[in-house]
Amino acid sequence: MTSFADLGLSEDILKAIQDVGYATPTPIQEQAIPYVLQMRDILGCAQTGTGKTAGFTLPMIEILSNGRARARMPRSLILEPTRELAAQVAENFTTYGKYHKLNMALLIGGETMTDQISNLDRGVDVLIATPGRMLDLYERGKVLLNDIKIFVIDEADRMLDMGFIPDVERIAGLLPPIRQTLFFSATLPPEISKLASRFLNNPKSITVAPSASTAININQFLIMLPSDNDWQKREALRIILKRESVQNAFIFCNRKRDVATLNKSLKKHGFNSGELHGDMDQSGRTATLDQFKRGDITFLVCSDVAARGLDIADVSHVFNFDVPFNAEDYVHRIGRTGRAGKIGTSYTLTTPEELKQIDAIELLINKQIAREVIPDLPEATNRPSQHRRSDRNAHKDRHAPHKGKPREHHHRAAAEPVIVAETHKKPVAAPVVSRPHPEQQHSAHAAFGSNLPAFLKRPATRSKG
Ligand code: AMP
Repeated sequence: MTSFADLGLSEDILKAIQDVGYATPTPIQEQAIPYVLQMRDILGCAQTGTGKTAGFTLPMIEILSNGRARARMPRSLILEPTRELAAQVAENFTTYGKYHKLNMALLIGGETMTDQISNLDRGVDVLIATPGRMLDLYERGKVLLNDIKIFVIDEADRMLDMGFIPDVERIAGLLPPIRQTLFFSATLPPEISKLASRFLNNPKSITVAPSASTAININQFLIMLPSDNDWQKREALRIILKRESVQNAFIFCNRKRDVATLNKSLKKHGFNSGELHGDMDQSGRTATLDQFKRGDITFLVCSDVAARGLDIADVSHVFNFDVPFNAEDYVHRIGRTGRAGKIGTSYTLTTPEELKQIDAIELLINKQIAREVIPDLPEATNRPSQHRRSDRNAHKDRHAPHKGKPREHHHRAAAEPVIVAETHKKPVAAPVVSRPHPEQQHSAHAAFGSNLPAFLKRPATRSKG
């Protein structure tokens, strides 16, 4: 078995790796590190969770340990699509570079430029940036890019989704043509491959997992809802949250405004929730994330942008309140759980309108996801917020506070539930039914008071996907 020492890393880095407790390199590290040390360009097809960050930061520290940076002239540049990812990479440098004296600067939006500029003035070996802030500071003349020796483009497919590619191309055009470029992407669609071929010179291609594969240690379920109705979706979510032993969870929404609405609703129903989305200022985002990491927040309602690539250990569940529009986002979302060999669980709430997106996801992951229904799910008849999600004004009603009498629970089935067995694409009549977790039955019962749905009274069995 290959060890870190076999990869050509020096004593100081090996000591730092030992301090973190990594026993052996991951496949991407084993394949990438020797080539990065040889100053080769890399085209890495790898997702977060594979150890790819250490795959490029460890050899970069090794290379950069010789030499010194001049003021405003960083020696390496790493572009990340989101502030959180940039901050995570910076943490990696701090951890692995603890026995080196490398200077680092983090240039991300949403924070004041003053500290970032004074860091640049001191001379930085490693510059980690989001593309917008990077260009902003360049245009102000606060940073010069002619001394960059190593250029890293991380999460390139995400950069594409977020519309950052023109900025990335502009930045690449400002760098010296003779440099080492490391290019990482979770997937390699044609646009990304084309982009990579423009940036890279005789790269070493490394693929560590088939693109868009989902981890085998994540139990995935779809909750089939009978109608396109927000209120019913929220009710279904609450039922599952009470039923499952959720230690902590990401709950993804497709739209920013729905993140706020859902968080408000969860809080109102007594859940310990918080929210994270791209419109929040950086200090709010950081504080919320810290609360989630510490366990002060159990349920983090979030948008894709905010949660992409976040590496938080021990997240027990991921819930998709909405089926993502982009099938690849499904893979990224559920990849927040089941990390580092742990077992994770994901639930995707699916309305009839969203079934097309499920088809695309199953095609991408080449796998059928287990279907469940919640029998006797209360129907949202005569409620102000029962509009279909596609209604133009639906969000206004969704913001309407719930007032007056306690909520009524209608126990007749809203529509004949669609029940689909895992091995069939089309609906069949096989009952695949979700049940409360035995430990959760008490709280689930309490939540319903005398209106206990019939399914909660039946003994528990469960189909696993
Ligand atoms: P990444 O794919 O870079 O986001 O890394 C995912 C997680 O794997 C992080 O929590 C790292 O600390 C961890 N990790 C990276 N390399 C190793 C390794 N060789 N052994 C065990 N864990 C690792």
